[in-house]
Amino acid sequence: MARISERLADLASGAFLTQAVVTRRTALSEHFVRVDLQSEKFRSASYTPGSKVQLRTDRGTMTMRTYTPFAWNAAEGTTSLVAYRHGTGPAARWIDRVAPGDPCDLMGPRRSLDLTSTAAQVVFIGDESSVGLAAALHEARPEGVTYVLEADVPAEYTEVLAGLGVTATVVPKNSHDLLTVPGSGVYDLVVTGDAATVGPIRRAARDWTPGPAKTLGKAYWAEGRTGLD
Ligand SMILES: Cc1cc2nc3c(=O)[nH]c(=O)nc-3n(C[C@H](O)[C@H](O)[C@H](O)COP(=O)(O)OP(=O)(O)OC[C@H]3O[C@@H](n4cnc5c(N)ncnc54)[C@H](O)[C@@H]3O)c2cc1C
Repeated sequence: MARISERLADLASGAFLTQAVVTRRTALSEHFVRVDLQSEKFRSASYTPGSKVQLRTDRGTMTMRTYTPFAWNAAEGTTSLVAYRHGTGPAARWIDRVAPGDPCDLMGPRRSLDLTSTAAQVVFIGDESSVGLAAALHEARPEGVTYVLEADVPAEYTEVLAGLGVTATVVPKNSHDLLTVPGSGVYDLVVTGDAATVGPIRRAARDWTPGPAKTLGKAYWAEGRTGLD
């Protein structure tokens, strides 16, 4: 019999979270999985590119993990996520087992980084966890964005991004190449991903010439910490 705490978590989820259903799971590569979702609530939800959703990964708990929706279609009540599979955390396990027809309880979309009012030129820096944000920005802004990302397997990530329409330069992790990526003219900087990279880049960007007009930055994960948000 389910413990009281588990039943309470399920009751709270039913009352406070949006109920969606998984309509498709597509392995884009060894480490990246796309999950398509549908919910009647999405038809009236307020979505802006750069919003986040927080998924409940396990029944009987309120464990939540954060992802970036893109391909938002209010008329159909549909959206998509792309998850980078790493390790054995709750989201990694959810991504591995999820199948069409499965329920998906989530919170959001809620504001995270607002990509609607960026300058005409944008420098986008990130890592594998920035994949959804890159796709969302590409939809909102098909031109004028320079994508430079770091990854454990650059060739794999380059291909995944290309499949999402994003042409990117992907460099090996910790190569320090990201610290010297100034844009030109008037541009905004969007930087997300590993906390160990986001902070140093924000600091380095103060010395870039020209510097960014505006910086939108957020750490998406940090070594040894879980569910960073
Ligand atoms: C606003 C926001 C939007 C996000 N959007 C996306 C998205 O669209 N796609 C996506 O894939 N991720 C995205 N993330 C990152 C994702 O939420 C984290 O990677 C999350 O920790 C994954 O949960 P987990 O249960 O697999 O691992 P956790 O249980 O949270 O962590 C387990 C271990 O894995 C490590 N870890 C976590 N993430 C990574 C990583 N990316 N690389 C290497 N090690 C890691 C942790 O430090 C920890 O040691 C987003 C995060 C935020 C805050």
